[in-house]
Amino acid sequence: MNAGAFLKLFARNRLAAAGGLILVFVVLIALAAPILPLQDPYAQDTADKFLRPFSDGHFLGTDHLGRDILSRLIWGTRLSLVVGLVASFGAAFFGSIIGIVAGYFGGRTDNWLMRGIDMLMAFPYILLALAIVAALGPGLTNALIAVAVVNIPFFARNIRGVTVTLAHKEFVDAARLSGMTDIRIMLSEILPNVLPVIVIAMSTTVGWMILETAGLSFLGLGSQPPVADLGSMLGEGRNALITDPHASIIPGIMIFVIVMSVNLMGDGIRDALDPRLRSGALTRPMARTLVDRDAVPEPPANPALLDLQDLRTEFRVGNRTLKALSGVSLEVRPGECLGLIGESGSGKSVTALSVMGLVASPPGVIAGGAVRYAGQELLGAPFSELRELRGNRISYIFQDPLATLHPLYTVGDQIVEAIQAHRSTPNAQARARALELLNAVRIPNAERRLGDYPHELSGGMRQRVGIAMALANEPDLIIADEPTTALDVTVQAQILALLDDLRRDRGVAILFITHDFGVVAQLCDRVAVMYAGRIVETGPTDAILDAPAHPYTRRLIACVPRLGEGRRALHAIPGLPPAVDDLPAGCAFAPRCDKATDACRTGEITLAKSAANRAVRCLYPEGDVA
Ligand code: ADP
Ligand code: MG
Repeated sequence: MNAGAFLKLFARNRLAAAGGLILVFVVLIALAAPILPLQDPYAQDTADKFLRPFSDGHFLGTDHLGRDILSRLIWGTRLSLVVGLVASFGAAFFGSIIGIVAGYFGGRTDNWLMRGIDMLMAFPYILLALAIVAALGPGLTNALIAVAVVNIPFFARNIRGVTVTLAHKEFVDAARLSGMTDIRIMLSEILPNVLPVIVIAMSTTVGWMILETAGLSFLGLGSQPPVADLGSMLGEGRNALITDPHASIIPGIMIFVIVMSVNLMGDGIRDALDPRLRSGALTRPMARTLVDRDAVPEPPANPALLDLQDLRTEFRVGNRTLKALSGVSLEVRPGECLGLIGESGSGKSVTALSVMGLVASPPGVIAGGAVRYAGQELLGAPFSELRELRGNRISYIFQDPLATLHPLYTVGDQIVEAIQAHRSTPNAQARARALELLNAVRIPNAERRLGDYPHELSGGMRQRVGIAMALANEPDLIIADEPTTALDVTVQAQILALLDDLRRDRGVAILFITHDFGVVAQLCDRVAVMYAGRIVETGPTDAILDAPAHPYTRRLIACVPRLGEGRRALHAIPGLPPAVDDLPAGCAFAPRCDKATDACRTGEITLAKSAANRAVRCLYPEGDVA
């Protein structure tokens, strides 16, 4: 992330920005202490002790020895800030080394280091710091060491946790295979990845460390007279708290201001560095996609099971608007299988997720159109209604079953959960139903597999479990988003045959998303071809395969190899799909199309009905459909 984007996100958080400004101001004054026209902070004048603030020559008054409080405050702030910062850098440095080494090597090294850290953590925080200063002797340096030491466990544990997950990632294995030494891997592969965590941990602990150092000084164990940091000023003023409160209240307020501003700023840094928050406002995704549309389209005269009408889903990132869907209309009838096909990035997944309001908001917004399930409008429906439909009447199958199954529950438990989410079924009955479902999706040895964890299954079996969960509540519609893309061809064929059988036996409708015309040919009754967030052609599968009307469809079909046709050159489509934040006027495919004319590059091109049940969005469709 560049510095500009970081600052922008940071500034959006008002409190953090205010904290940052105050802190910068305090730091600048502390830095400027030597050149400011301040009095000597050590010059005593007992005749003028405990002067009130705003007295002549002493803006904030004097302390019990008649020393100027303003001067002492600024010098003390300087000292407190330096000590707090150095302590947190020290703790971060040693804590991170311990964390990275323990997490990277694991096993016995990890055990030894972490048990040492546990021993440090077993003592109460302040007590341990006191014990360390008692052993080393009072003094600011020793207080600094004590505060750094008691904070090492915090960093070590945090960084170890992050490193453990990184140490088994493929890129680290690749670095090992390339023959890099452990030290180099830790420095060049692990460290850059944990650095944001270190920065976040530091920004949230600096405030604490300043406070802890002040605490030790307050007890007389930190800075020694006549030198004073904020804590020892507070300690010295304490004796006169009732008679002359300003001597202790002023440093107290300063500690409060510094710690507050550091903590607010730390929270802001943490939020701005969190990758999930970068692309949107400073909020977590909502439970459903935000809907922000002007008008609701008229309901269709003859509602199907699922009607998408002119659906427009956008991603609003900063001041850019990515139009992932610019008006998608399609319908799925009961028991029908509709294939939605298009290149990667054409908006297929966004279409699928928009149906049930599953596009993450922010940044996703549904900016227009309607989604109707059996005539009922879903985009404006209350969330409880939507939740009632999710996984019950309409269910999903996703591409990567390992990512959608919970790693710590057995597949049996997860299917049972899917059933019980919508029907209060006794456990035994739900389990019997889970078994029945596993048999229905043809998992061998279903009884035993119920007790298996997702990692114990093969990819094809996991996808079958995904299908079983989708079937759990006998839905009317299954939305399958590239369910076979991660599988090898034989397993893909089995899964497709399975889906086809289920559809014929149970009459479920399927919206099948894929980028592969071969798969569509095998499974789908009708197909809708998508390009740059729009449907460009739709019709019965056979008709479209025989005589594609849109040049894009023709080229997509030309990319599919066919058996038994002898040698045939496979043509990749030249060029790339357009960026959705800058769609060209007219036909989005025009720049890649060999038939495009100037007319294709202006105005709106409609999805026109052509032959029976077919429609195409093209001025010069192929064949005789025109
Ligand atoms: P596919 O057809 O491969 O499934 P998608 O529907 O996932 O494509 O994506 C359609 C477009 O929306 C792409 O240009 C993608 O970059 C964009 N997009 C998807 N999710 C997000 C997001 N969270 N933020 C910004 N853009 C997104
Ligand atoms: Mg996708």
